[in-house]
Amino acid sequence: MPFKGKLRFNETKTRMFDKEQISRFGAFATPFYYYDIKLLRETLTRLKAAVDKYGYCVHYAVKANANPRILQEISAFGFGADCVSGNEVLRAIECGFPADKVVFAGVGKSDEEITIGIRNNIFCFNVESLQELEVINKIAGNEGKIANVALRLNPGIDAHTNKCINTGLADSKFGIDFNKLEETAAFAQRLGHIKLIGLHFHIGSQILDKEPYRLLCQRSNEMQEKINYMGLELPEINLGGGLGVDYVNPDSQLIPDFESLMDTIHANLKVKDRQRVHFEFGRAIVAQCGTMVSKVLYIKPATQTNFAIVDAGFTDLIRPALYGAHHKIENLTSRYAQNEKYDIVGPICESTDVFDTGITLPKTVRGDLIAFRTAGAYGEIMASRYNLRNLPNVYYSDN
Ligand SMILES: *Cc1c(COP(=O)(O)O)cnc(C)c1O
Repeated sequence: MPFKGKLRFNETKTRMFDKEQISRFGAFATPFYYYDIKLLRETLTRLKAAVDKYGYCVHYAVKANANPRILQEISAFGFGADCVSGNEVLRAIECGFPADKVVFAGVGKSDEEITIGIRNNIFCFNVESLQELEVINKIAGNEGKIANVALRLNPGIDAHTNKCINTGLADSKFGIDFNKLEETAAFAQRLGHIKLIGLHFHIGSQILDKEPYRLLCQRSNEMQEKINYMGLELPEINLGGGLGVDYVNPDSQLIPDFESLMDTIHANLKVKDRQRVHFEFGRAIVAQCGTMVSKVLYIKPATQTNFAIVDAGFTDLIRPALYGAHHKIENLTSRYAQNEKYDIVGPICESTDVFDTGITLPKTVRGDLIAFRTAGAYGEIMASRYNLRNLPNVYYSDN
């Protein structure tokens, strides 16, 4: 999926930041997240054009990044929100997402969280079990309301992604087995305070291949047929999120190829008149606009490598420690032409506090600024205060 638009960073073509930007970073307290708001807006503009072409709806997956400034930028484009907790529902509404564009998913919604959704008249609960249907029905009854629900079906598709983020396989804890669609739909039909409005799927995350999406369309078509055979018509089809980004070479594609994914969906998904198609992208929207920047504290030479000990740890960016995820690491300030090998490690008292090993960087010294690219999704939001460390600082581009 080559990036077809014009490259924004002409200066070196391999770096997101020019000299001026890097010198501005010098004044910021490390470690910090830096968000390029211009890139975020360009990404949103491209996404909007891609989905508007077919009249599809997008609900941004708030769990990827719930920073209020980021949420406001996204809600300003008219997108909805996909939430996985009661607090996310509240935050999304506070940050400008209309409640009637908020969907609420999650295998373990508490009674309090369901109540938040119902009292705020959210658009839809994506329901993951029969028992959850009963509980939502009961709470909606107590509140004197009728809750819209979609059934989250486990599509039984292997998205061939990291096993930690693969959610669509049959033995995953997420969703309802697609073979149980009819009995679950029939059960939902009998509940007086629930209105069954759609089907929901989510196959996983960081998907770079279109094949899983094509299979998902087929599964959705099959499920629609079953629903229609039952004499039901459901107006909403939600295909979830999962579109991946380029972590290895971010500058080669700063904006994901939403267009070709939408073309694939359009070519494979059967949609009836007045039926709406929804997506829930998280990572694809926010990953590339965010960078985590850290300062080198110490260089410790070892036999095979050198340890560069930086002032960020997995409390600031946990993806490498949690899933073995890769972030492109750049030395923004080295003045040397000569390259050396480094293990980039954090200060936390855990041996998994390692960002990468054996990477080649220009000679690195104490005080250098190290960028961890593509950190806008599942970065800042996963920060913790383990070791009683401070949370990372946050800065934004001017526009
Ligand atoms: C996490 C999640 C998403 C977003 O996934 P991305 O890979 O960030 O696009 C969408 N829908 C549901 C139900 C999720 O749990």
